[in-house]
Amino acid sequence: MEKNIVPHSYQISVQDRQKLNNQNSFLIWFTGLSGSGKSTIANAVEKELFNNDVKTYTLDGDNIRSGINSDLTFAPEDRTENIRRIAEIANLMIDAGLVTLAAFVSPYKKDRDNIRSIVKDVNFVEVYINTSVEECERRDVKGLYKKARAGEIKNMTGISAPYEAPENPDVEINTETETVDQAVKKIIDYIKPKLQLNYE
Ligand code: ADP
Repeated sequence: MEKNIVPHSYQISVQDRQKLNNQNSFLIWFTGLSGSGKSTIANAVEKELFNNDVKTYTLDGDNIRSGINSDLTFAPEDRTENIRRIAEIANLMIDAGLVTLAAFVSPYKKDRDNIRSIVKDVNFVEVYINTSVEECERRDVKGLYKKARAGEIKNMTGISAPYEAPENPDVEINTETETVDQAVKKIIDYIKPKLQLNYE
């Protein structure tokens, strides 16, 4: 921190906000190829949490790439900066007492490690949406694979840019063998104990 930036000591802490919300706050990070099912599953998980009175917010390409990160490209250094800013925003949301969901390709292991260190290990749940590039290309939800094959998109993850799969994710979903409902149940079962406040 710069030496002339002295943090003010606010009287309402993250614990106070969590107590008011009667829930813990942490980040559920969805990583996987474009079209793998990150947004679909994140959306279904958020709906389930919302229906159970859990306060949430979802960050995804639509609300981040088109706004605060509209100055960034898909070149490796910009992808890193994209993820760093999202992690910092998620960190503020955790501080605000929300269960935060984030659905981003996030192809580099070092960037995902950086998120973990920004929000702290204990607040980070890594969900790997494992769908083969062949299946993602078959779905081609946004027509991006077709454009990438035609050379109209450079740096397309899975085609012309790498995807470094998580080695030890907290939850792994294979959308070619598991339904959305099964994925939601698996993720909710994993986070249920984390949702409980562990102080009086
Ligand atoms: P991403 O956010 O990873 O780019 P999307 O969620 O936008 O991917 O798109 C995934 C597509 O795959 C959707 O059209 C969704 O309906 C479809 N799909 C098929 N089976 C599954 C599954 N089991 N889980 C998630 N998505 C699935």
